[in-house]
Amino acid sequence: MIRRGWGIVWAMLRQRCPQCRTGRMFRGRFTMNDPCPDCGLVFQREEGYFLGAMYVSSVLSMVAATPIYFTLAHFLPEWDSILLALMAFALYLPLTPVVFRYSRVVWVYLDRAVCSGATSAGSFEKVRLEQLADTKDAAPREEHPV
Ligand SMILES: [Zn+2]
Repeated sequence: MIRRGWGIVWAMLRQRCPQCRTGRMFRGRFTMNDPCPDCGLVFQREEGYFLGAMYVSSVLSMVAATPIYFTLAHFLPEWDSILLALMAFALYLPLTPVVFRYSRVVWVYLDRAVCSGATSAGSFEKVRLEQLADTKDAAPREEHPV
């Protein structure tokens, strides 16, 4: 059980597919692989699916920015709090690509943990799976480096 939990955490840290844990979820800084290049799992299950990742992003942003703010407040106690918040925001800004990616990874893992399998798939996901099956039949599958 513990080993399985660490496997999930390790796959999340490496931003791998929640189903096969080998396929990369991203192919660029902000570009997702959808579906998974290894097992074909569709990550975007419906229109607006990643709006839920915004909640995760908010939590991750607070977790990242709050320590920055309080560290600045500790070392610069005479500074105005608005100025400290702006400075914390400026220091947080380079972390946004990381937060963006991990918010989507966490969201997909949470969603797959709660609603996994084809029985919970909505009509959007079923149509996407049919489209992918049609394109797979029409063209040979490309090899993706891992
Ligand atoms: Zn996969």
